[in-house]
Amino acid sequence: MIPDRFGRPLRSLRVSVTDRCNLRCRYCMPEDEYVWLPRASLLTFEELTRLAGVFAGLGVDKVRLTGGEPLLRHDLATLVGLLGRVPGFSDVALTTNGLLLARQAADLRAAGLRRVTVSLDTLRPERMREFARSARHAEVLEGIAAARAAGFTPLKLNTVVVRGFNDDEVEDLVEFARGHGAEPRFIEYMDVGGATRWSPEQVVSRDELLRRLADRYGAVTPLSEPGGSAPAERFRLPDGMTVGIIASTTAPFCGTCDRARLTADGTFFLCLYAERGLDLRAPLREGASDDDLARLVAAAWRDRTDRGAEARLAVARREALYTVSGLRADPHREMHTRGG
Ligand code: SF4
Repeated sequence: MIPDRFGRPLRSLRVSVTDRCNLRCRYCMPEDEYVWLPRASLLTFEELTRLAGVFAGLGVDKVRLTGGEPLLRHDLATLVGLLGRVPGFSDVALTTNGLLLARQAADLRAAGLRRVTVSLDTLRPERMREFARSARHAEVLEGIAAARAAGFTPLKLNTVVVRGFNDDEVEDLVEFARGHGAEPRFIEYMDVGGATRWSPEQVVSRDELLRRLADRYGAVTPLSEPGGSAPAERFRLPDGMTVGIIASTTAPFCGTCDRARLTADGTFFLCLYAERGLDLRAPLREGASDDDLARLVAAAWRDRTDRGAEARLAVARREALYTVSGLRADPHREMHTRGG
């Protein structure tokens, strides 16, 4: 295990396989136009797998595919199969908005994908039209059903809770998850790159969510998972149902963060909030050996002091992290580029 400056080991890797997305969620991609990564800069599956293997050699055992929307990357099941054969990976997972899941779930399962998390911000199609500029709500529901049928259980359903948009649906989303054998996870609205409309008033905090759940269901019991580095805190409702809360904004978990991020063009980020990343594509394409690449990654991780979300807590007048022009100047700052 490679420890960073705070002793946090490098254990998990999020690979953003594309910066493209087929939704325009207000908390991530609210603008009309974006600067995309140049096509020629995108790593091939073989290049991505080789870099993932370098991370595995340094102690990473969990890999999660993200985007953008990862299912937009053609033939993603092939990448899943390649990653599944990397020695050391015990877990290959996927986070998706679900739109293309119905037609891909069985192939992904057959290729060795172990876990799927689907974003579901609302149960109301008209809200999705307004909030994500998409009329394809039914396809998300079909994707959830297909994932379940393909054997992805327990499925996780992620909801970013935004006051004034979907905060009145928390209990309905719990019941929907219950009816679909899934675990709901509520995520605080984060002021990351891309969230140009963020304001503190729109954040529904972990504490408020817990109060809401307790009012509806009765005592909510924390499920202690000692030593865990997972972002979600899990709670049990009196009837045994479990619910996750990801309190990235009001109660960040940087102290145990073991997550590295790799973008589709091979930029290595130490934190979701990091200002800059380390280009691994150039050395990879210029003939660096796996040992050379491992030295680059290990040196960056050993020097890591990032605690991005905790640093944001200390900002007195908190507003969106970047302006639109700041994001256009460097698309790597976008959450849809570096993976949420
Ligand atoms: S803000 Fe950065 S250090 Fe903190 S949990 Fe997120 S990725 Fe990890």
